[in-house]
Amino acid sequence: MIFLIATSNKDKMIEFSRILGPLGIEIKMPHELGLELPEVDETGTTFIENALLKAEAGAAFSGLPTLADDSGICVDALGGAPGIYSARYSGDEAGAKLDKNKANNLKLLRELDGIPLKERTAHYTCAIACVMPDGRKFTAEGYCFGHIGFEERGTNGFGYDPLVLINAEAGAVEGAEPGEKTVGETDPAVKDTFSHRSRALHKMCDILNEVL
Ligand code: IMP
Repeated sequence: MIFLIATSNKDKMIEFSRILGPLGIEIKMPHELGLELPEVDETGTTFIENALLKAEAGAAFSGLPTLADDSGICVDALGGAPGIYSARYSGDEAGAKLDKNKANNLKLLRELDGIPLKERTAHYTCAIACVMPDGRKFTAEGYCFGHIGFEERGTNGFGYDPLVLINAEAGAVEGAEPGEKTVGETDPAVKDTFSHRSRALHKMCDILNEVL
């Protein structure tokens, strides 16, 4: 069975291919099927609701079993922000000069100014939704815990990765001591051993193996 991945985010596409390939799930990106998916308004109030909106729209448009991801970073000292608003955290600040990820990261550093490392705890969340052509829907969520550093470091990954210090040895779990390396300084294959996306996709894979 082939699954459409309902995203236009190239960074997510790369991670989906890397993680799902070895799990034996055959996936296609919209461009590989000559599809241009319509933009979906992310009007949900949770990661799961937004992932479902994207997967439902993709399945309705393509007629194919469809997987979608909604994800972001939740920072404890900011009451869980930016959370579901992670992609649009800096609003229009980016303008023509700064790229969106850079503007988001600079805003997060500003908001955490003066807060010591111990109190900069955060976790990534990834919600995966799967919608089948017969209307069945499945969801799974994965988390990855770390701390927000004081400057951007590393060029691997995307988004907030240059800011997120991960204790990979401890397994990126809640309560672990701060790691020394950011996700941006971590090899992509190592990111896949602890990332929120990898954890959510493994759970989804278990669900699909059971029900299909
Ligand atoms: P979405 O496209 O609405 O799900 O927004 C996802 C946003 O969350 C991205 O644009 C990033 O800012 C952030 N994000 C999600 N997953 C990751 C990740 O693995 N690394 C870094 N940033 C991420």
